[in-house]
Amino acid sequence: MIKDFIKYYAPYKKLFFLDLLAAFLFSACNLVYPMITRDIMNDVVPNKDLRMLMIFGITLVVIFIFKAILNHFMQYWGHVVGVRMQGDMRSYVFTHLQKLPNSYFDNNKTGVTMSRIINDLMEVSELAHHGPEDLFISGVMLIGSFFILLNINVSLTLIIFAILPLLIWFAIAQRKRMNKAFMETRVKTGDVNATLENSIAGMKVTKSFCNEYEELKKFNSSNNVFKVARESAYKVMADYFSGMNLFMDILELIALIAGGYFAYIGKITLGDFTAYLLYVKMFIEPIKKLINFTEQYQSGMTGFERFMEIVNEDTEKEVENPIELKDVKGNINIENISFTYEDKKEVLKGLNLNIEAGKTVALVGPSGGGKTTLCSLIPRFYEFEQGDIKIDGISVKDVSLKSLRKNIGVVQQDVFLFTGTIKDNIICAKPDASDKEIIEAAKKARIHEFIESLPEGYDTYIGERGVKLSGGQKQRISISRIFLKNPPIIILDEATSALDNVTEREIQASLEELSKDRTNLVVAHRLSTIRNADEIVVLTDSGIAERGTHDELISKGGVYSKLHK
Ligand code: ADP
Ligand code: MG
Repeated sequence: MIKDFIKYYAPYKKLFFLDLLAAFLFSACNLVYPMITRDIMNDVVPNKDLRMLMIFGITLVVIFIFKAILNHFMQYWGHVVGVRMQGDMRSYVFTHLQKLPNSYFDNNKTGVTMSRIINDLMEVSELAHHGPEDLFISGVMLIGSFFILLNINVSLTLIIFAILPLLIWFAIAQRKRMNKAFMETRVKTGDVNATLENSIAGMKVTKSFCNEYEELKKFNSSNNVFKVARESAYKVMADYFSGMNLFMDILELIALIAGGYFAYIGKITLGDFTAYLLYVKMFIEPIKKLINFTEQYQSGMTGFERFMEIVNEDTEKEVENPIELKDVKGNINIENISFTYEDKKEVLKGLNLNIEAGKTVALVGPSGGGKTTLCSLIPRFYEFEQGDIKIDGISVKDVSLKSLRKNIGVVQQDVFLFTGTIKDNIICAKPDASDKEIIEAAKKARIHEFIESLPEGYDTYIGERGVKLSGGQKQRISISRIFLKNPPIIILDEATSALDNVTEREIQASLEELSKDRTNLVVAHRLSTIRNADEIVVLTDSGIAERGTHDELISKGGVYSKLHK
């Protein structure tokens, strides 16, 4: 874990070491003040040496200015190192997210993933620079003041250090409790985020069912769990800090009484006694810092652990040296495919289906029969174990995912539009497309005129996820994407099911245009749209029930003809 963490320092090595150097010099400067105080009390005052006092004064002014500069450097550049590391982690985890299989997104709530990338990494960033800075400052000040204290008086120093093990024991005992409590709050933060994300996305549904109260209850209950978790984490923290502070007060007390006694019996001068007290105080500061550090370390590392959990998720697999699909004709052979979503019941059982290049095969059947599943196996949105799918005779498992997906255009029932302009939403199919190509695609999808009629044309903002468009308009934009992508294989998965009859009929024309000279797999809800398919396959829970052309199946009088009626 630590090793993985340290990796992220690599690009900022120089800056980081400068930061540590600043921390070192800063703490060394801190050690000077008590020493000068001692000399003033021991020498300057008895000898009435005003010149020396002036020199000490000037020295301190210089040191304080130097300290301010160092402090400024640490505050600014230290944080910069943290922020940059956090930025790197974010973009790394985002790249990784893009490679995760669909099953990850099926199984993980968006809000939780977001919380890991935003909140958790914030804590990691804090740890990244404060951690080593604090360790360094504390180390230098602890060791420095220890030796100076020894130099002042050995027996006094040993008394102080005798109670240190007790303090360390207490700190370690509390550490585990803190770790657990903080992990818990991390998890709960993710839950609150997920609930919130879900509720905001579904606000319109909530309104339409007047479900505000129920949603509020749901939110409050996860908010409460979060509150309770945080409260108990703060309880653990309070135990820890109050315990540690008590120890330190005792330490100061011992120093004061023992030192006072030593001065009383004349074993040390008053100057030494004052310096001694100042050093003991100074030496408490780094201990406090170390305690802060353990807390920061806990929360930073739990954050990093959660980050690593995403990073360690398996990505979509590719074979070594995958084949690049080129000049695809579009023959699709589905051979004996069986498929199960993560240990649930078998969705597809030994399915066989051939689609010749340029032909249209329609899949129909009851909902839940596995039509969508089959459609998602071809572009390998899910991994199948048994059977094979070949495109032009090459197994989809042997080709690169990129070239595979470039050759397949999928139109689904629920269109996802990104927040942005219409142009943004079409051009995502081919980022280097010219305006002319975009307009051409929109014309083919028969949405160009509508877009032109908008005040800002292609640059019109369509609201979050396209809320400002009708279902038919959204579907046409998604069809323009496919025209622009221009793949040889098209999969239409109930592309028009969500639309009314009139809109469906209108869109049908653009879909027919899209299917020309391509291989098509069409899942249709309304049978009227697939009459002309070269083959119709009826898929039910128990596999393919029947297949043939429309006329063949009607005359056969089986499932299809019943569905048709
Ligand atoms: P169809 O498109 O024919 O209506 P699907 O392929 O969507 O059927 O679903 C087939 C079965 O697989 C259903 O029982 C459904 O519950 C299940 N299923 C679909 N998608 C997933 C998924 N992402 N994870 C787990 N199970 C799923
Ligand atoms: Mg479906």
